[in-house]
Amino acid sequence: MPGCGIGHGDDPTQRSGRDEPARHVGADGSNREAGCLLARELGDDLESTLTTFADLTGCEVDADEDVVTVRNYPECAGYPGARGPVCHFMRGLIAGAHELETGERTPVEEVRCRAAGDDVCEFRIGRKPREPTVPRLDGLDERALRRMAHAASEREPEEVAAFKLASEYTLKFHPADAAAPIFFRAGRLYARALLRLYNPLEMTSFLSIVEDVTGAECHLGEGNRMSIEPCPECAGFPREHEPVCHGVRGALHETLGTFGKEVERVEETECAAVTGELVGRCEFRFELRGL
Ligand SMILES: [Zn+2]
Ligand SMILES: [Zn+2]
Repeated sequence: MPGCGIGHGDDPTQRSGRDEPARHVGADGSNREAGCLLARELGDDLESTLTTFADLTGCEVDADEDVVTVRNYPECAGYPGARGPVCHFMRGLIAGAHELETGERTPVEEVRCRAAGDDVCEFRIGRKPREPTVPRLDGLDERALRRMAHAASEREPEEVAAFKLASEYTLKFHPADAAAPIFFRAGRLYARALLRLYNPLEMTSFLSIVEDVTGAECHLGEGNRMSIEPCPECAGFPREHEPVCHGVRGALHETLGTFGKEVERVEETECAAVTGELVGRCEFRFELRGL
């Protein structure tokens, strides 16, 4: 895909054996790419694509000439005080659908966004975006982090699930060396935000917080293993040949590091997506440095 460079996401597992320097692609690029890919699955023109997407995710979409307005859109839900628009997945979805309809590649700019304090998210087809804003977790205060952690609870579970599947699914089916670092990095950032929000004293108390937030059970077991059930990351993904829960790997890596462990690598030894369960248990094993 043009314009989709990939970084290793600070994952030592992905880094070994490669001498090319990591190219860093922001969340803006990969999210936009995912939206673009999804457009092909949902319809064959702008209107049908947006209507299907709105039905699935519970937002309201109005398209009028080159302006698309989206109300109650989940992508930026919970992002407080961004310096600019952050809905890059929707930019990609609109660009992809527009290309299906007209055969032309065109840029899409988000000109208003709820994350930046506007009432709605508004997109202009044919306008080149300025430097894209990437949501940052640094510098957010406790109130902002709390709002972020609970953003999904204000929505219907089916709509949250539909958006999660729509946005992640397309990226997960990129080749593993492209998707893995993105999700690994996201997992690290998510764990970092939760750790800062709750500031737990021990890893076990942090895992009970994760259980509260995700509704899954986490167990630390013998031989440096951790399991999570039901795993929220691969829930709903069809059978794959390789484990897909790179976000959980990243989160575990970050958490162990926070509690003073020097992590060599984290691998997923059992994945519900591989065993063909729609929702199931995933298990991870970590290696510590010098052991
Ligand atoms: Zn937005
Ligand atoms: Zn898994």
